[in-house]
Amino acid sequence: MQKTKKKLRFVKEVSDVLCNCCGRSCKVRWAEIDLYEYAKIDVVWGYGSEHDGEEHLVHLCAPCFFKITENFKLPTRRDQNE
Ligand SMILES: [Zn+2]
Repeated sequence: MQKTKKKLRFVKEVSDVLCNCCGRSCKVRWAEIDLYEYAKIDVVWGYGSEHDGEEHLVHLCAPCFFKITENFKLPTRRDQNE
């Protein structure tokens, strides 16, 4: 048997994800459901780096992601990297 007690907790929940490049919401509506479509870059620069210890978190909406990556020299799609 487990004894329980009620507790009131405050929970942070994501209400939107904004694109760092254009500032627009990454929310898309599909079949009456709100979804978030974005690319995420989460990095902590390491020892010896010019940005040692800096932490960066970037969200990019799909249009900005494809606009930025279209001129990359190497493909980003996994099935094109093999
Ligand atoms: Zn964007």
